[in-house]
Amino acid sequence: MSGKILLRGVRLACHVGVPLEERARPQELIADAEMDFDTRPAARSDGVDDTVDYARVLGAMRQVADERSYALIETLAEAMAEAILRGFPVERLRLLVRKPRALEHLGVDWPGVEIVRERSAGSALADVYLALGSNAGDPRTNLCAALTAVGRECEVAAVSSLWRTEPVGYLDQPWFLNAAALIRTARRPHEMLSFLQGIEAAMGRERVIPNGPRTIDLDILLWGDEVVHTGTLRVPHPRMRERLFVLAPLAEIAPALVVPGLDGTVEELRAAAAGTMRIEWAGAAPW
Ligand code: ADP
Ligand code: MG
Repeated sequence: MSGKILLRGVRLACHVGVPLEERARPQELIADAEMDFDTRPAARSDGVDDTVDYARVLGAMRQVADERSYALIETLAEAMAEAILRGFPVERLRLLVRKPRALEHLGVDWPGVEIVRERSAGSALADVYLALGSNAGDPRTNLCAALTAVGRECEVAAVSSLWRTEPVGYLDQPWFLNAAALIRTARRPHEMLSFLQGIEAAMGRERVIPNGPRTIDLDILLWGDEVVHTGTLRVPHPRMRERLFVLAPLAEIAPALVVPGLDGTVEELRAAAAGTMRIEWAGAAPW
């Protein structure tokens, strides 16, 4: 393991205690979190989106302390550990939660609970849907190469057919070839975005004209039923509802999926967008 983020002496107010009268009013708790994760992507990019943003971790811890009452600090610590492992690219977490004043009258500095939890490789895999597009060079080869690169680090579980689609926005360019894929990954969303952007860069993508020609475009459409909303990443992809070139291939591999925040299944969204742009089936995918 190559790095650690520490949060020491986090003061929280929480309704916690076995006797109901103790639980009736919030009491002060102090938590220490030690989060092991790979700090190198953040060191390379110098960007907060690649690290464990401790301001957001703090928010997640406070939310767990605020959202309900607890009889035991064991339960609170477990819920906090789950929230941190679910929401951040943390591999291993040591969490100490103590009640600073609970046993003063018995001559004890403080009682506390310490737990260590790890990300479990099997259960943490997320179902992620990607959109792929290309209209420069040999689009069919580019889509294949991108998917092969994705497949080196993630399980590729399903791939749609290819669709030839008319350009949107900037019209003076060749038609696109589009596809969608279902992959399974233990990465967190921002790590995945960096990984995909690395593939785009390696394949020589240059962002010259917005919506202009590209060797390869890799977008994250859906991340299980999670909603991600940060400066660099929005999932579900904010424009997927209007994009028939996304919905047509996606409807082949996930017709019954319900998109968080949108009404209806993918197939219903596809049917609603049908006719808004020209698209043609371009054959089964060559993988
Ligand atoms: P587009 O895909 O809209 O044609 P780009 O590929 O150049 O354009 O992406 C522009 C920016 O969109 C990226 O730098 C990325 O940070 C951001 N972005 C926001 N949400 C997503 C998403 N779900 N998938 C991929 N990129 C996203
Ligand atoms: Mg993109």
